[in-house]
This record gives sequence, structure tokens and C-alpha cells, in this order.
Amino acid sequence: MKKIILIIIDGLGDKPIPQLENKTPLEAAKTPNLDRLAAEGVAGLVLPLKFGDFPHSDTAHLALFGYDPKIYYLGRGPYEAAGIGINLKKNEVALRVNFGTVDENLKVIDRRAGRISQTEPLIKSLQKIKIKKVKFILRKSYGHRAVLILKGENISSAITDGDPGKVGEKVKKILPVCFGRCGAQAIEKGKFTAKVLNEYLEKAHQILENHSLNRKRKKRGLLPANYLLVRGAGSFRKTPSIKEKYGLRACCIAGGALYKGIGKILGMKLIKVKGANGLPTTNLFGKFQAIRKSLKKYDFIFCHIKATDNLAEDGNFLGKKEFIEKIDKNINPILGLKNTLIVITADHSTCSTLKRHCLEPIPILIFGNGRNGVQSFSERACKKGKLGEINQLKLMSIILKLASA
Ligand code: ZN
Repeated sequence: MKKIILIIIDGLGDKPIPQLENKTPLEAAKTPNLDRLAAEGVAGLVLPLKFGDFPHSDTAHLALFGYDPKIYYLGRGPYEAAGIGINLKKNEVALRVNFGTVDENLKVIDRRAGRISQTEPLIKSLQKIKIKKVKFILRKSYGHRAVLILKGENISSAITDGDPGKVGEKVKKILPVCFGRCGAQAIEKGKFTAKVLNEYLEKAHQILENHSLNRKRKKRGLLPANYLLVRGAGSFRKTPSIKEKYGLRACCIAGGALYKGIGKILGMKLIKVKGANGLPTTNLFGKFQAIRKSLKKYDFIFCHIKATDNLAEDGNFLGKKEFIEKIDKNINPILGLKNTLIVITADHSTCSTLKRHCLEPIPILIFGNGRNGVQSFSERACKKGKLGEINQLKLMSIILKLASA
């Protein structure tokens, strides 16, 4: 059995862009190393798993590890929480939070409050809030992100999101939801949780609106972080680990909290890399070195690279192209390995012109067993690859087959 390196370049696939001579950022990027891996390996396209209108990073990752989100998905909150080191307990519900900006009518102006990062003073001002015996604990994550934990009896994760997901729309009131059949008690719990959470969000909005940091931001012409946009309520439930499912010793090398969290919940050992921050400035060389080092101890190495997705979401196709080139330049530590399968793909495509995740098929290359004559690594080239079109949920079985042959 070969060792497996799975590199997920988040949001890698894209549509052709007029300003790039109708090439995608991956096509336009100079990537001699990735091209060689594709040429000496096999390639294809992965069809993303649709969960809702568009693919999402969390459910897409579960799918590509071979875990059907319909069965295993916990909600965004628990993964984000695990990624910043919180182990959820019984009677706790976690939600993903964006510090966002709303106007006086609670319409969203910016879902990331100008990508604010200094949220510590804001978080401090929102601690120790308790409503009807439910404790609200807010924890900082990376950048504008945070995690909200609700702790108490009679709470439930069966509630809707407050984040409308779109600029220009009003924040949503939290409502109870019912998946499948719900008993009277479950309905009551959902209602109660929605009620206290709505109260908390209103209170938090008032505190944030009047916070000195936000007043200073406004004076400097910056967007105030005056609302907690919450989504993805979930509670903990054991998921079978990669070891239990496939018998592989697995580790995770990632900068972003969500990916660390998914890794952790799937039983992967988190490998720390200095300077891995999920941003375009991340320490790519350090991550590739960490992969090489991890091969001694682990059979399955999941490495996540985030910035491609964020750059595309900001419409920065040139930045995306340049970042892909940077990945290519730093990939050296994992070249020339023996008895190793290298898989490079994404969780979904992110279309720079649409500034969001999209349904474009995802390019994939697998190096280390067989070759197919594709000349470069791109959406168009991979279409002609030997792997053809792959259902995302079946990807892991293909990887395992190629690793064992
Ligand atoms: Zn993603």
C-alpha cells in the first residue's frame, strides 16, 4: 500500500475569465510542477456534491473523504469549534459566527465587516451573557470568524441560521426547524433555543453598535463589526475516524479552523506548521515540508490550502492565479517521493466572476500510479484525463484502489 497525500486547494476550479484571455486562473497560471505531475499521472474531473444550492466547503470535504454528509454532517458550528480546540459537550450547541456589518434596518452591508481581524475587544464585551439559564460563550477564530457556544438544559441545534448569506438582505430571525419527525419535546427545545438566541443576538447588536472600537472604526471610515451573523448550529456526535473507516493513520495540515476541525472530528492528528494561516501569505513551503516529514508516521496526509477560495470570493482572479503559481513554486518537498500517491484537487470550484462557490467540475490529478497523456493541470486538460468524471463521494474509493495497486 502506497502512502497517500491528499492536497485540497480550496475553490481551485473556475470559469474562463475574459481578462485572462478566456483562461481560468489555473490555466493562466504558470505551473510547471503541477503540469508535470498531471502529465506523469492520471487526471479527471470531480463532480461536486451539491448540498443546498451550491457546494459548501464542510459538506464537500466530508464527501471527498467518503463520508456521506446526509448521514455524518454535524452542522458547521461543531467543525469550527473543533478547529479552535473546543470539544463540545452534552448540552452544548455550537454555531459559526461572522462579525458582520448591518445598517439601521438590520440589512447586511458586509458579511465580514471589512474582513476585520481585531475582534478580541468586541468578544470580551459579549462574555458573561446568560438568558433564561442559557450561557452564551463567544470564542475568537481566524479573522472575522468566531464560534458561539450555547450551554444549558433544554437547548437544541434544530434551529435556522441568522446569516442571510447575502449582502443587501435583512438578518434572519432564528426559527425552530424540524428534521424528519419531531416529538413535542424536540419542538419545544427548538422553540426555546430560537427564542433565547434571538434575544442574545439583539443584545449583542446593541453592545456592538455602541462599542468604542466600532465608533473608532467608523471615524476611520471602516465598517463597524456590529452584528453576529450566525449559522450552522450543531452539536457533537461521534463520527467514525479515518482509522476506523479505512485503517489508515491520518494527519491534517491546515491553517483554517474549519479544516482543522473536520480533520479532528475524523480522528486525524493535527500537525502544526508555523506561519500556516489560511491566507495568501501562508507558509506554503512549511506545509509541503510538513507533509514530507509526516510520511514517516502517517499513511494518509490531508493538506488544505485555503487562499484560492477567498481570493476568488473577492473577485480577485489575478490574485488567485498568482497564488496558484506560488503553490507550484513551493511544492518541491513532495516531489521525487517513492511509494506515494499524490492527489491534488479541490473541495469545489469558486468562480471569480460570480464571487462565490459554483458548480463547475473540479480538476483532479493523481500521481503515483499510471499515466494518461494529459499535458497540463487545468479544467480543460483534465476533462480529457483517464479518470473521467468522478462522483465526489466515490473519490476516496478510487484513491484507495490506486494506492493499493
Ligand atoms: Zn471550500
